[in-house]
Amino acid sequence: MPLVNAKEMLTKAKKGHYAVGQFNINNLEWTKAILLTAQECNSPVILGVSEGAGKYMCGYKTVVGMVNGMLEELKITVPVALHLDHGSYEGVKACVAAGFSSVMFDGSHYPIEENIAKTKELVALANEKGLSIEAEVGAIGGEEDGVIGQGECADPQECKMIADLGVTMLAAGIGNIHGKYPENWAGLSFETLDAVQQLTGEMPLVLHGGTGIPEDMIKKAISLGVSKINVNTECQLAFAAATREYIEAGKDKSGKGFDPRKLLAPGFEAIKATVKEKMELFGSVNKA
Ligand SMILES: [Zn+2]
Repeated sequence: MPLVNAKEMLTKAKKGHYAVGQFNINNLEWTKAILLTAQECNSPVILGVSEGAGKYMCGYKTVVGMVNGMLEELKITVPVALHLDHGSYEGVKACVAAGFSSVMFDGSHYPIEENIAKTKELVALANEKGLSIEAEVGAIGGEEDGVIGQGECADPQECKMIADLGVTMLAAGIGNIHGKYPENWAGLSFETLDAVQQLTGEMPLVLHGGTGIPEDMIKKAISLGVSKINVNTECQLAFAAATREYIEAGKDKSGKGFDPRKLLAPGFEAIKATVKEKMELFGSVNKA
């Protein structure tokens, strides 16, 4: 099945009270692990690509070529969206041209008027090309490609203003953070989420920074209208831990253990296990 935009899968998720996972990709192993797990779980999935990861993978065209090739060769039949994560204005345009099926424009660092003007323009472009588009209000804390922010809470009125521009899904800061959560983290602000949901109605809401949020908070967030949850760091931690274990056990030094197909296998399996666990938690299994 060719790439689809994220609109239908997220509309269904919001109605069905579950969330679709966005898992960020970094290379072939990541992509293959996520696609195979989605197929095994019969779950819709969103592959996230940050601008940094896009650059690392030799550009958006390479990413599109790799993902489209895998969809065909691996006979993937579940809905898959290829989504630019935290895109700049220029990044969104580049991904539209390269063949992504979904984009996020992160104008949260602009004054609200400028965020609205740029989002409006990119919504028109996405609509014209049939892509889904995510916008962000209220910066999400933690490190985003080198930019450190605090766990802010979005202004619900500003969320409504952006939602009314015709975006497909909306990321609102509700005290969530990218990366690992600090010991003294205050938790998600359900008051903010509830207020945003009341003003934005049917709009699927997006929760960034899904790594390390306690399960009960994830479930409550889904019950309050979150239909897309972004997971990135958790797959990285799982991959690193499994690879470390392999090396520390000296397996790369025995037989052909140095073969990259063997060396990277435990990390690959660890990503699969993490993605499966998240799909079960988010309730997207068998929702393809
Ligand atoms: Zn994010």
